[in-house]
Amino acid sequence: MIAGNLERFPDLHPALDSQSAAVEANRCLYCYDAPCTAACPTHIDVPRFIKKIATGNLRGSAQTILDANILGLSCSRVCPVDVLCEGSCVLHRYNKQPIEIGRLQRYAMENARGVVLAPRAQPTSFRVACVGGGPASLSCAAELRRHGATVTVFDNRPLPGGLNTYGVAEYKLRPADSLREVEMVRAMGVEFRQAEVGGAVSLDQLEREFDFIFIGVGLGAMERLGLPGDHLPGVIDALRFIERYKTQPDFRSGRSVIVIGGGNTAIDAANAAVRLGADNVHLFYRRSEMEMPAFSFEYDRSKVEGVRFHWMAQPVAIVEQDGRAAGVKFLRTHPGEPDAKGRRIPEPVPDSQYEVACDMVIPAIGQTRLTAMLHLAMDGGAIAVDRPTGRTSNPKYYAGGDCVNGGREVVDAVADGKRAALGMVNHG
Ligand code: SF4
Repeated sequence: MIAGNLERFPDLHPALDSQSAAVEANRCLYCYDAPCTAACPTHIDVPRFIKKIATGNLRGSAQTILDANILGLSCSRVCPVDVLCEGSCVLHRYNKQPIEIGRLQRYAMENARGVVLAPRAQPTSFRVACVGGGPASLSCAAELRRHGATVTVFDNRPLPGGLNTYGVAEYKLRPADSLREVEMVRAMGVEFRQAEVGGAVSLDQLEREFDFIFIGVGLGAMERLGLPGDHLPGVIDALRFIERYKTQPDFRSGRSVIVIGGGNTAIDAANAAVRLGADNVHLFYRRSEMEMPAFSFEYDRSKVEGVRFHWMAQPVAIVEQDGRAAGVKFLRTHPGEPDAKGRRIPEPVPDSQYEVACDMVIPAIGQTRLTAMLHLAMDGGAIAVDRPTGRTSNPKYYAGGDCVNGGREVVDAVADGKRAALGMVNHG
């Protein structure tokens, strides 16, 4: 069973009530060729679903959303709307607040009743195995069912949903919401099997039983720091930290926490540590504030949560005391020569070492890429695909989500899954 804790992790943004949703929906200009729709990777017809809210047709609104994006609920909660749909809203041009598309989408998804996503009445003989139970596979499976295919999702975890269930911070998306979406996909006739592909189920078996195989396995484990002491008790990577507090009700954060990294996952872990009761949470990043890859709104929110940020600091060792992590040694850095992407490489400043005490270290320096996968052609640690169709170098295999794009948003994984499903349908 998975934990859920509304007290420690209340919603980041309060839900809209019916009156405020109606007022917000009526501010929309219902643009022709709406830029908000174009900015959405799954191309949800935004003015259409908002218009339906304005006219009180919530079921129709949710149906419009789900027709384009089967994970419309989770995307309404985790999408970086500031840089996608809301960032493109024409109201910016008139110096007005953009329409709160994300909150309206959430309102429709949470309040609509009786939405049915029917598979095609006439099934086809076309069978697909989706490997991995995260957003890309769920989206692929749902789209395939709409085209009459028989689909089985293989996931080695007890619960499907991938990062949505286990890895997204709870104040953004509760596990129950992720599992509700899984149930919606199951209700379309998708079979879910808990099994490790490559273990209990071999690829040869899948190749014999299915016409196509979709790979939606995400990325690998989080990168280790590779420093003395990074194996000690008290060192726990950010995804494991998030998974633990979501699945173990008695999980406790350290009192004094150091998070290492500057991305959105680092920020999620730091915020969670605050909410789990840490006395102080310090986030260290080896580059400058300006270079931090986390979204600026995530950074701003984290400052409000009480996380303290430290720049130009490179960890060099975990300090050990009584067999546990008790601090981190850092060197100050300064910007060096630009790398291939033009980012200046941080270089350690000689004799600048300092030490910060803590009782928990949370590295969040990215996830490992796949080094080789099923003899498929790779591209820089990701599975290479034909972009319009998601087809890999082996025509029996399609792929999408983080294992192809290197780690982007949930909505990108959903778009990839849909695209691959249509690729299979058109080549099947
Ligand atoms: S761009 Fe803004 S105003 Fe236009 S349809 Fe989209 S949400 Fe409505």
